Amino acid sequence: MAAPIPREWVGLQQFPAATQTKLHELLGKLKEENVSTLTILVMGKGGVGKSSTVNSIVGERVANVSAFQSEGLRPMMCSRTRAGFTLNIIDTPGLIEGGYINEQAVEIIKRFLLEKTIDVLLYVDRLDTYRMDTLDEQVIRAITNSLGKAIWRRTLVVLTHAQLSPPDGIDYNDFLARRSESLLRYIRSGAGIGKREYADFPLPIALAENSGRCKTNENGAKILPDGTPWIPNLMKEITIVVSNGSKSIHVDQKLIDGPNPNNRWKKYIPLILAVQYFFVVKGIRRAIHSDISNGKLDDWEQRYRDLVGSGNPVDQKVSSSRNPKA
Ligand code: GDP
Ligand code: MG
Repeated sequence: MAAPIPREWVGLQQFPAATQTKLHELLGKLKEENVSTLTILVMGKGGVGKSSTVNSIVGERVANVSAFQSEGLRPMMCSRTRAGFTLNIIDTPGLIEGGYINEQAVEIIKRFLLEKTIDVLLYVDRLDTYRMDTLDEQVIRAITNSLGKAIWRRTLVVLTHAQLSPPDGIDYNDFLARRSESLLRYIRSGAGIGKREYADFPLPIALAENSGRCKTNENGAKILPDGTPWIPNLMKEITIVVSNGSKSIHVDQKLIDGPNPNNRWKKYIPLILAVQYFFVVKGIRRAIHSDISNGKLDDWEQRYRDLVGSGNPVDQKVSSSRNPKA
């Protein structure tokens, strides 16, 4: 099936002039590096602001945003072009349902991504989350199993709800540092990134505030509490990931099948059966044949002959065989 012709990126013109200039500059830089298509995959738990972030980046309402988690299971790809540059952005449903990974959602996402090349994964979570649990780790593990560990080299972590006031008068930057550290710990653990690999998996973090009530600067650009316009900043971080020297992730069947232990050993089954046949079955047969030809008898048969042949009372013989000293 041919990919539909992408629409003109009109949303770009909705941004304030300064943001447009910055975004054009970034796209120009990518084109200098021969990157003319950028495919961004957006993943994370439900309700963290994935779809809202997609809409903020595109500058149009392309993904359904819902305060209540009725996202459906299908991913959605939106494509836009501007001056010879194509942006593809893939929004996905949350992977958790009823406290568990929704395997059906994972399968649908994998099928959707088949034969696509992912340049950047935006792993989205909320800044204003105070506790992480095994569900976070499960989501990260499901992503790793589906797309391979290398996807985390191509990841930008996005924290939404960035316009928060930290509790108990904690300094904003301290709060951000603690939140980032705890999230990175979970990502590294779920993705199986060991200490020695930290440098290979930089996992940068960018902030987002999708709320319509987000503060703006004098140019009308939405800003973070420190005054940084967050959309151009997020795009800049994306271009840094693209140029970090790691490869984009091409999703093929082999990657999707992954190092599943069930599949890994399947190909050895005929070999294992052959080994069993030659060494175990043949060995036993040989032993039986040699016993027969040596005239050795089975233990039970020997006992039966003892009983019948000796003419002693059966009880006595059995009890004496149980207790040889009696
Ligand atoms: P998804 O399930 O991850 O796609 O999350 P949605 O984008 O549908 O957002 C879930 C809810 O959070 C919606 O009510 C959004 O309006 C809200 N939301 C998303 N991002 C932000 C944000 O950065 N700040 C605030 N205040 N609300 C947000
Ligand atoms: Mg959504």
